Amino acid sequence: MQKLTHFVGGKKIKGASGRFGDVFDPATGQVQKQVPLATAGEVGLAVKVAAAAFPDWSAMPALRRARCMFRLKNLIEEHRDEIAGLLTSEHGKVRDDALGEVTRGLEVVEFACGAPQLLKGEFSDNVGSGVDAYSFRQPLGVVAGITPFNFPAMVPLWMIPMALVCGNTFVLKPSERDPGASMLLAELIQRAGVPDGVFNVVHGDREAVDAILAHEDIKAISFVGSTPIAKKIFEVGSANGKRVQALGGAKNHMLVMPDAPLEATADALMGSAFGSAGERCMAISVAVVVGDETADALVAELEPRTRALSIEPGNVEGAEMGPLITAEHHARVSGYVDLGVTEGAELVVDGRAFSHAGQPDGFFIGGCLFDRVSPDMRIYQEEIFGPVLCVVRVSSYDEGVALINAHVYGNGVSIFTRDGDAARNFVQQIQVGMVGVNIPIPVPMAFHSFGGWKQSLFGDHHIYGPEGIRFYTRVKAVTQRWHTGIRKGADFHFPQLG
Ligand code: NAD
Repeated sequence: MQKLTHFVGGKKIKGASGRFGDVFDPATGQVQKQVPLATAGEVGLAVKVAAAAFPDWSAMPALRRARCMFRLKNLIEEHRDEIAGLLTSEHGKVRDDALGEVTRGLEVVEFACGAPQLLKGEFSDNVGSGVDAYSFRQPLGVVAGITPFNFPAMVPLWMIPMALVCGNTFVLKPSERDPGASMLLAELIQRAGVPDGVFNVVHGDREAVDAILAHEDIKAISFVGSTPIAKKIFEVGSANGKRVQALGGAKNHMLVMPDAPLEATADALMGSAFGSAGERCMAISVAVVVGDETADALVAELEPRTRALSIEPGNVEGAEMGPLITAEHHARVSGYVDLGVTEGAELVVDGRAFSHAGQPDGFFIGGCLFDRVSPDMRIYQEEIFGPVLCVVRVSSYDEGVALINAHVYGNGVSIFTRDGDAARNFVQQIQVGMVGVNIPIPVPMAFHSFGGWKQSLFGDHHIYGPEGIRFYTRVKAVTQRWHTGIRKGADFHFPQLG
């Protein structure tokens, strides 16, 4: 059985805790490798190494750090297939989806290549006689990233290039469910010329995360995962004096107006609800449909398509949906479908009994479609994180907006309509961080920033893009006089330069 290692100080280090986690191939249901689960001591070693690498790395001109990012971009492109292969094998997502994940991560590396421009400060000439003022950004020190299972390459790449190019050193604690991609990224980062110790990977579970939260040399934490853990990371990390951005879970709605083109809207819902088996924080899991006539037509369009989904191991050509991540998660998703039936929603398509003919032990589930879901049901309120689409019927645009705004999550949302007025109003009124207009999964490009509202994000900074630069740096303001010949005597007033 293959045993993964940690990656500390540029070297692969065997786990010393004696504790290991199983990494499955979700398509076969078999354990394929094991990942070491670090102790607080192993986390401490990685932080020590990262702290030792900080002075030289942070003093390196941003231009040279950016050159490492240019090389990393090329290396990720060269290894795109290998990274995608790891994602499919450990996470289960279909190949095209895995390749798309690599591309979206790569875009953040491309953005980080512009570091010299992004890190430019501000200068005010002659703010007083012979006095100039300027401000500039400095890195924080050692920063940590804690990432979820559903994007094992993209989410680490939301953090790593931004943190490194700003001059920080990094300790990554990837998901223990699919940790392989982070090890490949570590090798590529090393080959890109990033000095040993600047980027480190420590695998683990709660014990490693708690050690990160407690370690006084870690200055900031970027977390992406479920809401209860995000909240804990934000609260404990902040109480321990760290800067924290903690992105949590989601329940993303699509408001379908009566004038929305039916087939194109159904296309968008199929991809966004069932792509990656619904294991996306930007998946649409609720269609809020205005008017019974529209809802009847949409459900009639979705039903046969949901039944006909091509559900296969991710490496099968043409597969639309792969398995779920683990047997436990399969039981959880299936349990939510049971609950929806008990709560009185109409189960139009029941995927619970789906079994893949060639891989009966794989963690496969079929697409599930609920109609007549109401806001008091737990299947509406809670994140299921599986291929379960709920249709909620409303009688007006206003009712739909009020419903969405009342939800505790506020990650992504979308409106499908041909009505520009309705779309513009929606963009203004909706209490959600990322909004799509006729776009089902509005993940911002790398040069904007990603982040939800309400229970979907704890902290003040969104992730990557300009917000990433702000998160991973702090501002220093300098007021300087070089006109040293003039003496005015001691001044006991509060300084007024102008
Ligand atoms: P998770 O919260 O279970 O795990 C995330 C990370 O936290 C992992 O590294 C895990 O090891 C660690 N962790 C788990 N339990 C912990 C505990 N009790 N104490 C300390 N650390 C702990 O999330 P997941 O199941 O890996 O990922 C799915 C979740 O992530 C979903 O809720 C999804 O919506 C969310 N997500 C959000 C975004 C976003 O941008 N908002 C993006 C991707 C995923």
